Amino acid sequence: MVIVLFGAPGVGKGTQAEILAEKLGIAHLSTGAAFRSAIQRATPIGLVAKEYVERGGLVPDDVVAKVVEEALAGSDFERGCILDGFPRTRAQAEALETMLQQLGRSIDRVVNIDVDDATIVARLLQRGRSDDREDVIQHRLDVYNAETAPLLDFYGSHGILVSVHGVGSVDEVNQRILDVLRS
Ligand code: ADP
Repeated sequence: MVIVLFGAPGVGKGTQAEILAEKLGIAHLSTGAAFRSAIQRATPIGLVAKEYVERGGLVPDDVVAKVVEEALAGSDFERGCILDGFPRTRAQAEALETMLQQLGRSIDRVVNIDVDDATIVARLLQRGRSDDREDVIQHRLDVYNAETAPLLDFYGSHGILVSVHGVGSVDEVNQRILDVLRS
């Protein structure tokens, strides 16, 4: 099973992806976490990613694709995976289709987690990661609206998009996601 968790920064993709991966027994890839780890280890990819992540911009598509391709080839991804924070652009969505095709797979469901902007900003300010400063948050939301949100139409037209309301307790939102995955 291949699931994409979709939604703006701060809707809870990372939290939900972790729980779902555990419950469904499949791997979890967060491109954001992969970049944060690469930045911390100062790997070649980390050095490139750093300036984009710090400013709340998107890491270039070819760099992102390399990270995802490597992860998908890992043995822990054989039973399926949850993608969290990828794809974020049309080019990434197309690269993902090609990668999955080569593995004889396809996306089963894109789960959009829907949260209003005011709640998102409040949550991110509370989280306080180094890219969770007010100006950077606003930029990340703008980038999401310009580059990523249009993918909702793309996946909607493929008939694999489902949406859940993302305000509520972690358990409530998780149950909503499990419900739409079963439907
Ligand atoms: P959030 O969704 O809360 O912004 P993430 O951990 O998903 O947090 O992403 C953090 C940052 O990592 C993004 O702002 C961006 O700079 C970079 N990033 C993560 N995933 C991608 C991606 N698919 N394409 C480009 N940049 C990405």
